[in-house]
Amino acid sequence: MLIVQKFGGTSVADAQCIRMAARRITDAARQGNDVVAVVSAQGDLTDRLLEKIASVTSSASSREADACVSSGEQISAALVAMAVEEMGFPAVSLTGWQAGLVTDTQYGNARVRFLRGDRIQKELRRGKIVVVAGFQGIDRHENITTLGRGGSDTTAVALAALLNADRCIIYTDVDGVYDKDPRKYPDAVKFKHIGYDEMLAMCRGGAQVLHDRCVELARECGIRLEVRSAFSDDAGTIVGILE
Ligand code: ADP
Ligand code: ASP
Ligand code: MG
Repeated sequence: MLIVQKFGGTSVADAQCIRMAARRITDAARQGNDVVAVVSAQGDLTDRLLEKIASVTSSASSREADACVSSGEQISAALVAMAVEEMGFPAVSLTGWQAGLVTDTQYGNARVRFLRGDRIQKELRRGKIVVVAGFQGIDRHENITTLGRGGSDTTAVALAALLNADRCIIYTDVDGVYDKDPRKYPDAVKFKHIGYDEMLAMCRGGAQVLHDRCVELARECGIRLEVRSAFSDDAGTIVGILE
């Protein structure tokens, strides 16, 4: 089986979290699966990179802003690959452009178009676990683009679709999708299953648990998403088609 696993910012925030993510990745590999992991920048690093930009200029070119702000994911990808290797599994980290994720030219809010080349497939055939930097791609002029805030979810779904993965698991800091934000409302109720349209309506209403574009893309491509906690083994939420 080919499994895409995505880890959000909180799920790779420090060394302990990175080891936990690496453990989930290597557990899946140990069971005989090919694994492509997609990672976000650590904690609030993306916000800090945006602050750095603002400290230098109030009129950053969007090209340079994307070059800067995409760097957080590159750090995470390399660190997670190192943690995976530390556990005895061969791994390789790839930026969006190394992975060949081609987008349109809309800096800051680019849309994934296709996968150029077969670098990921080649690495998988070599027996590697592939760790891809989320949130970023490259446009046809070879400039780095980013997919919009929260866009690593969309990287995961795009890769699941383009690589024809069997499973796409979104590991995050809550154990599923609730009817309202469980951090704000203790009486929030978890969904075992939620359809694409209902999920999309929640995203558009501001539920940041999934990037809205990721849900649109999952619906378009028929990708079933599993939203689970990176920190517990509780049953998560299935988004989309039931088996
Ligand atoms: P990640 O860094 O893993 O991408 P996000 O911070 O983007 O995580 O999304 C997870 C957060 O979404 C949760 O911590 C939670 O506070 C928030 N959230 C908002 N609405 C919901 C909801 N309906 N169900 C679950 N989580 C929600
Ligand atoms: N690091 C990016 C952000 O903070 C992308 C993501 O987390 O999905 O928006
Ligand atoms: Mg997110």
